Amino acid sequence: MERLRAVKGMNDVLPEAIPHWRRIEQTFWRTVERYGYGEVRTPVVEPTGLFVRSIGEATDIVEKEMYTFVDKGEHSLTLRPEGTASAVRAYIEHNVAAREPVTKWAYLGPMFRRERPARGRYRQFWQGGVEIYGDPGPFVDAEMIDMVVAMLAELGVKDLEVLINSLGSGDTRARYLDALVAYLTPHCDALSEDSQRRLSTNPLRVLDSKVPKDREVAAGAPKILDFLGEEDAAHFDELQRTLDALGTPYRVEPTLVRGLDYYSRTLFEVQGKGGELGAQNTLCGGGRYEGLVESLGGPPTPAIGFAMGIERMLLVMGEDGGAIRPDVFVIVADAALRREGALLLKELRSAGLSADADLRGQSVKSQLRRADKSGAKIAMILGPSEVERSVVQLKDLAAGEQAEVPRAEAAARAARIAGRELV
Ligand code: AMP
Repeated sequence: MERLRAVKGMNDVLPEAIPHWRRIEQTFWRTVERYGYGEVRTPVVEPTGLFVRSIGEATDIVEKEMYTFVDKGEHSLTLRPEGTASAVRAYIEHNVAAREPVTKWAYLGPMFRRERPARGRYRQFWQGGVEIYGDPGPFVDAEMIDMVVAMLAELGVKDLEVLINSLGSGDTRARYLDALVAYLTPHCDALSEDSQRRLSTNPLRVLDSKVPKDREVAAGAPKILDFLGEEDAAHFDELQRTLDALGTPYRVEPTLVRGLDYYSRTLFEVQGKGGELGAQNTLCGGGRYEGLVESLGGPPTPAIGFAMGIERMLLVMGEDGGAIRPDVFVIVADAALRREGALLLKELRSAGLSADADLRGQSVKSQLRRADKSGAKIAMILGPSEVERSVVQLKDLAAGEQAEVPRAEAAARAARIAGRELV
């Protein structure tokens, strides 16, 4: 029989990897709450038109990466490839603009793109992201970039670079596109096939290409920053001055464009420099999208957002501390003491410690091996005499020290060693 396997590019996350995931998720939620974002949960499936109209027809996502299906012969539905479009739909559908002048939303969940799977690039991947509606910036833009940097610092990601650019607004884009096409057209033969096609469908995306020969041509292209109108330039200038004031490091990268059509003005990306990422080195991407809410049927609303890829964060964070490590591993010297062992485990867990044991009735030596393998910080050993005298032998496995401790104090002593608060 053919073996059933997960869909290509879609991964299981097994318990030993979960602590990493939780750490990222918890850091994400802790951080965004500190900055005043509320969580929004939208469906993973949306009407296909939502993504076509927001992300843009001539983008990689819409052209070739969406998981689209017809629901019982009626509606075309798509697994969401990103979070912004759904958030905007919900913002409009629930008429949020009428209730609050500025809205700050955050989300975290799986996204789906039929890309060619590679390290750091999957067909189901997780994104945590935020959106701000109703504030034209640039102060919230700076705050958002600063928040991303703070979040990454808390996760211990050091080798990173923040790139910023402005795509301008209004007719900036149109004037720039004219100049870009005028520059690229004579270089057409030097471009990759994809870029040649994009030259007519979506010329900005030529700048986004990772193909070396495209990058060479792109390096000489006119810079969008030279095309900014007065107000756009002032916006971008103030963004930089606020970032300076906040002490957030950044580099202006005039060739930065991102793969979605809806961006305008502020654009930013955080790239990891650790080798683990290879070509997939963009950890977070975001920007301002001034026209999107209105174009999807809402009131004119300035907005900005970003998303970070959880799997890419995992790659830069490294592998330390994978499996769940109990604080305490309980060992019983005699199989007859297993009930007592179960009781001690319950006492420790009730106190707020994580505790584990091997109560199958194995030898002490084998239990010690399990304790070691579990990565526990402490072993507590119960023999008949310990049970009789209401004490435990408490062994600090890192320090290699052992002491006899009254059972009533065992949890407190273990908590001190494990660096935990008792409940
Ligand atoms: P985007 O929505 O394309 O701006 O991407 C935002 C972030 O999501 C990227 O910086 C990546 O960290 C992550 N990401 C995008 N596509 C993928 C993918 N196919 N696999 C894993 N992570 C991804």
